[in-house]
Amino acid sequence: MTHANLIAGEWIRGTDAVRDINPSDTTDVVGEYDRASAAQVDDAIAAARHASQAWARTTVQQRADLLEKVGLEIFARRAELADLLAREEGKTLADATGEVGRAGYIFKFFAQECLRIQGERVGSVRPGVDVEITREPAGVIGLITPWNFPIAIPAWKIAPALAYGNTVVMKPAELVPGCAWALAEIIHKAGFPAGVFNLVVGRGSVVGEKMVNDPRIDAISFTGSVPTGRGILAKAASRGAKVQLEMGGKNPLVVLNDADLDVAVRVALDGAFFQTGQRCTASSRLIVEEGIHDKFVAGLAEAMQKQVIDDARKPGTTIGPVVDQSQLDQDINYIDIAKAEGANLVAGGERLNREKSGFYLSPALFSETTNTMRINREEVFGPVASVIRVKDYDEALATANDTAFGLCAGVVTTNLKKAAHFRRNAETGMVMVNLPTAGVDYHVPFGGRKGSSYGSREQGRYAAEFYTQVKTAYVMQG
Ligand code: NDP
Repeated sequence: MTHANLIAGEWIRGTDAVRDINPSDTTDVVGEYDRASAAQVDDAIAAARHASQAWARTTVQQRADLLEKVGLEIFARRAELADLLAREEGKTLADATGEVGRAGYIFKFFAQECLRIQGERVGSVRPGVDVEITREPAGVIGLITPWNFPIAIPAWKIAPALAYGNTVVMKPAELVPGCAWALAEIIHKAGFPAGVFNLVVGRGSVVGEKMVNDPRIDAISFTGSVPTGRGILAKAASRGAKVQLEMGGKNPLVVLNDADLDVAVRVALDGAFFQTGQRCTASSRLIVEEGIHDKFVAGLAEAMQKQVIDDARKPGTTIGPVVDQSQLDQDINYIDIAKAEGANLVAGGERLNREKSGFYLSPALFSETTNTMRINREEVFGPVASVIRVKDYDEALATANDTAFGLCAGVVTTNLKKAAHFRRNAETGMVMVNLPTAGVDYHVPFGGRKGSSYGSREQGRYAAEFYTQVKTAYVMQG
């Protein structure tokens, strides 16, 4: 089956195609997805521009009905989509099922948000004048998404964009075009007017660059790596486009002496290694107070031994493969760097062979690391975590905040006072108490500080900040 690009309401064949490979079994080709040519990206942008005014004028009910339809269809096809997701990205079927459900709920949430778009009416400082503040669509939105959440991230950008009356040109990561394509098909079949949503598959350096530089695109929302995000910001901002970036993390999980050891181990195992550590919110720095340090490291190493690393779709698998060869090389390179820096490899970090030829790696845990080591400063984006021993809470907090990133921070403690202090003083966009740093709700803001994010928050009603522009109207009273 061929998978064309969705441009101006038509499926348009590309010039060549990208092969979507199953990371659990590299002999399995998930599908071939047409790459859009530069001229086709141009057509997609023109279509979105053309559809923009009429779509902005639709009623909130029309938009709510269409988004609801998409949400319901995602749920109707949940098992099939989850299988596709697990097959193309390598997260376990249980995680993939959760992610597809999340995408469905996001569409259903933003269907309702259409009905809650609000303005303000305030008194004027001048007599006889009314002041009205309203939100209008931002215009044509370019969406560029990464490979690690192939359906949830597209969903949390597409749904608010459409809900607030914008049109969309979307480019998914070449590594995982399958889920984005399936979502485009669902959106197309739901009956959105031609050109309101366009899908263009292709390389970031070709398709993405074109979107970033095109003046007909008013705003760019991007999730991915820091260098790519920074490059996009420089180019898009220089032409005055609105930009929203979600990038990396080096998220600290602080474990205090008074923590419940079982909770600490469970939270660290999930946050650091589930979904193969390929989450921007992964707990990659485990900052542990002296008194609990040895018990925690031993407990976590024991829990890691019980993990089943295998085909993402095989029953019983708890950790799937790394997404591709280049990410595997990056993970192994960082494991070597950590060893060379003097870190102690407690467990894992081995390339594994399974029945099928996939990118299997056992989760790696390092101890005796310092916060100045590269392993603790740079995002690995794999199943690799390191323990930093600290003498007390103050040192733990200072170490947690000593990073260029600021996405999420967690603390495991039974001390209410310290939990409250950590919540207030963690320099991150999100903070967790006795929970993994990864794993968030879909109806509340998501995003970070410092080098992790740029621009306003994604998700929940805070998404309105990016996907709308504010108009202030002054009206002389009749
Ligand atoms: P990238 O930042 O390279 O890619 C993210 C998206 O941007 C993809 O759709 C990509 O396209 C696109 N892109 C790449 N170059 C450009 C460009 N010049 N202009 C416009 N768009 C572009 O991340 P990768 O997916 O390649 O992953 C690399 C590393 O990024 C990972 O190892 C990890 O460290 C980090 N990462 C972080 C994520 C996070 O949420 N924090 C998510 C994913 C990755 P394409 O890939 O199709 O060429």
